Amino acid sequence: MTRIAFIGLGNMGGPMAANLAQAGHDVQAFDLSETACAAARDAGCRVADSTAQAVEAAEVVVSMLPSGAIVESVYLGDDGLLARLPENTLIIDSSTIAADTARRVAQAAKHRGLRMIDAPVSGGVAAAAAGTLTFICGGSEADIDAARPVLGAMGKNVLRAGDSGAGQIAKICNNMLLAVHMIGTAEALALGETHGVDPSVLSEIMLASSGRNWSLEVYNPWPGVMENAPASKGYQGGFMVDLMHKDLGLALDAAQHEGASTPMGALARSLYALHRQAGHGRLDFSSIQSLLRAQTDA
Ligand code: NAD
Repeated sequence: MTRIAFIGLGNMGGPMAANLAQAGHDVQAFDLSETACAAARDAGCRVADSTAQAVEAAEVVVSMLPSGAIVESVYLGDDGLLARLPENTLIIDSSTIAADTARRVAQAAKHRGLRMIDAPVSGGVAAAAAGTLTFICGGSEADIDAARPVLGAMGKNVLRAGDSGAGQIAKICNNMLLAVHMIGTAEALALGETHGVDPSVLSEIMLASSGRNWSLEVYNPWPGVMENAPASKGYQGGFMVDLMHKDLGLALDAAQHEGASTPMGALARSLYALHRQAGHGRLDFSSIQSLLRAQTDA
């Protein structure tokens, strides 16, 4: 049993904290939202009145927050958590944020004798609830190994990408590729359909051919082709367009930082921006199919 402070009990953090409590850890949790705190209490966590109270006596701190600015506000500054934690505390930040920000906060933590890793996740709300997330980690091997027992209660894979910040880079590379093959899959299905080829038949053919990819295998974007995919449930649930758009923005910022060329990622971001502007930000990201289908039909 480890004493764990958990900060940020939203769509992802809520079920992650619940899994830690269910695994027998002593979880002291905090979120600005009272509803999120109440759900965590029901799931077996102790609820604190503030971030400062949540980390009292904690051996490990886990955070799952919306943005880099919020991660910085929670950890840095005179009132930040880094100023409160005893030496050697292990901090695991699972938020998806810029690698630069992750490195800056980890550096500040190291300066105070604390250990910190970035551990963004692959897998959405369903994987968070099922405890099957993949953690994509950046930090020293020793710190990531120390985090494994805690991460293992929330996920099935713990992968090390490299040093501090590398977890964030690997995560956005993966999501950039995911966006590109989802859009490519949607485009191919729409083209086939305009020529009278049934999307289910075309999906089977591409699955048996060189176009095979994860979107076709488990997440077909055409409604009705795959019973359990978000496309067959009105694009509800799954991974929101808003979050994909955010991750593609992080990928493009990272590319610009190093002068790297990511033309497919840039186009993907632009298409998701268009889709968001049309009011679909809260739909699953495979709903990009509707944008491509409408354009092909026009
Ligand atoms: P969310 O908006 O549902 O949850 C964030 C929570 O943080 C909210 O409950 C909010 O009240 C809380 N919060 C904000 N500021 C706080 C503060 N100062 N102190 C305490 N709590 C605070 O977001 P989410 O979907 O849970 O995503 C969290 C992170 O996980 C994001 O970085 C996101 O990019 C990443 N992520 C999300 C998914 C997904 O499918 N939802 C998948 C992979 C990664």
